[in-house]
Amino acid sequence: MADLERVRIWADALIRMHLDPGRWSFRFDSAKRRAGLCNFSEHRISVSRYLASRWDDDEIYQVLLHEVAHAMAGPTAGHGTRWKRVAADIGYIGGRTHDGEIAAELAPWIGTCAAGHEHVRFRRPTRPLSCGSCARGYSETHRIAWRRRETS
Ligand SMILES: [Zn+2]
Ligand SMILES: [Zn+2]
Repeated sequence: MADLERVRIWADALIRMHLDPGRWSFRFDSAKRRAGLCNFSEHRISVSRYLASRWDDDEIYQVLLHEVAHAMAGPTAGHGTRWKRVAADIGYIGGRTHDGEIAAELAPWIGTCAAGHEHVRFRRPTRPLSCGSCARGYSETHRIAWRRRETS
């Protein structure tokens, strides 16, 4: 589980490194269904406090990179080629982001728990994972079974 103070430190560092820190700022928000947001009118990147405190460090770091890439690519880039290039340049490899569709569309690893909750990952998980919707903490009963997406 990510430590919120650390998330803030990473966010500030990424803003200093890739954006104008005089213009852009970071804060936590209280969203529950999406992890991150890039607000172009207020020049602010925000991350859900709720999800940040539940997800792993590397996943939250990926959310930050995803949003910083939006800020760098500009509001018209969407998740198109320009955004993808910028995102890859700064180290974004994907993950469980606020973009359920893009994650589900791109992530090569799909996992399901016994109750049918779907999970997506960009890399094959190296340790057993259980479903966070079914149980907090690791639970063998709710272990996720992974399969690789067939790509055409
Ligand atoms: Zn996005
Ligand atoms: Zn589940």
